[in-house]
Formats: sequence, structure tokens, C-alpha cells
Amino acid sequence: MIPILDSKRQYATIGNEIEKAVCEVLRSGSYILGPNCKALEVELAKYIGCNYAVALNSGTDALHLALRALDIGKGDEVITTAFTFVATTEAIGIVGATPVFADINPDTFNIDPKEIEKRITPKTKAIIPVHLYGQPCDMGAIMDIAKRHNLYVIEDCCQAIGAEYKGQKVGTFGDIGCYSFYPTKNLGGMGDGGLITVNSENLRNRVVALRNHGGAIRYHHDEIGVNSRLDEIQAAILRVKLNYIDEWNKLRRAHAKTYNELLAGCPDIQTPKELDNTYCVYHQYTVKIPNRDEVHKMLQEAGIGAMLYYPIPLHLQKVHAHLGWTKGMLPNTEKDTEMVISLPMFPELTLEEQKTVASTLINCIEKSKAAV
Ligand SMILES: *Cc1c(COP(=O)(O)O)cnc(C)c1O
Repeated sequence: MIPILDSKRQYATIGNEIEKAVCEVLRSGSYILGPNCKALEVELAKYIGCNYAVALNSGTDALHLALRALDIGKGDEVITTAFTFVATTEAIGIVGATPVFADINPDTFNIDPKEIEKRITPKTKAIIPVHLYGQPCDMGAIMDIAKRHNLYVIEDCCQAIGAEYKGQKVGTFGDIGCYSFYPTKNLGGMGDGGLITVNSENLRNRVVALRNHGGAIRYHHDEIGVNSRLDEIQAAILRVKLNYIDEWNKLRRAHAKTYNELLAGCPDIQTPKELDNTYCVYHQYTVKIPNRDEVHKMLQEAGIGAMLYYPIPLHLQKVHAHLGWTKGMLPNTEKDTEMVISLPMFPELTLEEQKTVASTLINCIEKSKAAV
């Protein structure tokens, strides 16, 4: 059995440090937005390379509060990808705005800048590029479009902490960057957590107020906010893990290279391509294959934890049915939805396991073709 992710193996390496940090929090009596949270915000702003970071309850809240801070709401359109986790468009829906989908570049799975331009209307207020699977979007082209059309950019970096475009970390190109610390993410807590990165002091202050019931001063409420405070236990855990993130991302990249080599001999498998001048952090290692559903089933039966991210593109989800998108409107997105499969990927993965995954995948594809 080779799982897609094995959190226990990571815990075995740093568990002592984490238990010490958590016990200190338990003894401290300070459990919400305390010293660990403050320190985490400073450390992550420094790591990512922006003026401010604000810690929140989840990546979904980060997207939601980023939209709120930019005053995006009813009547506004936000251009994004349908090839992402639902939280991206859910946040747009929560503020009452309308998601507008642009097709992807099939080489990178990320939003295609040329397609963004086609979807701009007088109602468009913002673009949300998603750095999917840890691969940076073409931020040069996206920022150029945003500047020409006077649009905000909110980067969904939930899968891409540490990823770089032209030597600069994602989350620092647009107006606001959004991160998730969901346990399976490259920097994962042991519960929910999220963060925004921002350079503007005004936007930072607005999110700080929104996360705590819409007021910067206790019991003074200026607008409807939410409760999206990060707890000290998560912040303490994340501070320990932040010391390892570069090392872990390096290992993910090395594993991706190994998979590329192991799978190179099979012409049916399209291994991931990287944009020039990017540093991909491989939250997922995702390939395109024929007979995907059948091969997926065979892999599961063989004990390989392969997953489909994501089986239904967002423009065809029931939640967005009222927007009127139908099959055929995003051909690249729809085609790749049927071909992608993500293979086991985590820093502690061994070479032996990778060899087993690769040879099993190649065998399953051969078998599926013989059956047709
Ligand atoms: C995980 C994820 C989110 C949501 O993060 P949560 O912390 O689970 O709320 C948003 N967008 C993308 C692309 C994600 O992968």
C-alpha cells in the first residue's frame, strides 16, 4: 500500500518538536491570536516576501476576506479557473459576486492569460489565478492584463507555498495572496488554518478587522465581519514546520524529477511541464493518461493511492448551474478533467515506492489498452 500522502511519516521526524511547542501553548493560557500567531505572521511575511501577513481560520476564509477587503460583491464579476478546488469560486459566491470562467493552458493546468482577456466585461473587478498543484501561473502576463484593464488580482496560493515565478514568491504579485494550512497542504497544520499576504497597510488593517467581527478595537464594530482567528496551537505547529518547508519542497521537486525519469519511456503518459523561470513545489504530481477512470480503479486495486483532482470542473458543478455554463464552453478544462491523475507525492516518499508506482502505472495503462 503506497498512500497519496502519509502525514504520520512526517510526524515521526518532527513530532518531538511539535509536542514541545503545543505543550508550551497549553501551559501559556493564551489560545487565540496570541504571541505565536503574531510571530507566525511576521515570519511568513518575511518568508514569502511581502509587507504583511494576516493569519486566518482557513484558505477559504482567506479568499473570502480578500474579496471583502477589496469591496468586491453583488454585481461584480471575478474571472478565475474552473480547474480548481471549489473553495475558489465558493468565496466569490459568498460575497455575492459572479465567477466567470476562463479556460486553462493544458501544459500547466493553470488559467490561460489569453482566455482571461476574452472574458473581461465592464463588470469585471478582479482575477483570481490559482497556482494549481504548486505550479505558478504566468504572473507576468496576468499582471499585465490586470494593469491594462484596472483589475484587482487575488492569488490563490493554497497549493503553492514557496513556489516562485522569476525568483519572486507567489502571493506577492497581486493585491492579496491567499494561503491554506489544511493538513494535506505543503505547509499543513493539525487542524484548519489560512493566511493572506499583502503589501498595502490599508488592506492589511481591513482583513485584521474583518477576521475579528469587523472591528479593529474590541467591542467597536464598523462592519459585518466574521470569526476567522487562527488558534495558538496551530500557529505554534506551523512555526515549527516553517523551518522545514524549503527542505520539504526540495524533496517534492526531486521526487517529481524521479517520476519524470521513471515514466519517460511510456509515450501514453504526459508528465507535468513547468513554465520557464518558475520554481514549482509539486503539491501534487499530476500526469495525463488514456483510459483514466479504468486505470485509476486498477491502481486502487493494486494499493496505489492515486487521486483525481478534480473529477468535475467547477463550471459544470450543480452549485454554479444557475450561471448557465454548459459542456463544451471550456474545452481544455473539460478534456484535462478526464485525463488527469495525481500520484503519491510527499517529502518522505522513497525511491522504491516511486519505482513501484511508476511500473504499476505503466502496467495498468498497458492492460487497459489491451482490454479496449
Ligand atoms: C485547499 C484549497 C483551498 C481552501 O483551503 P481551506 O484551508 O481548505 O479552506 C482553496 N483553494 C485551493 C486551490 C485549495 O487547494
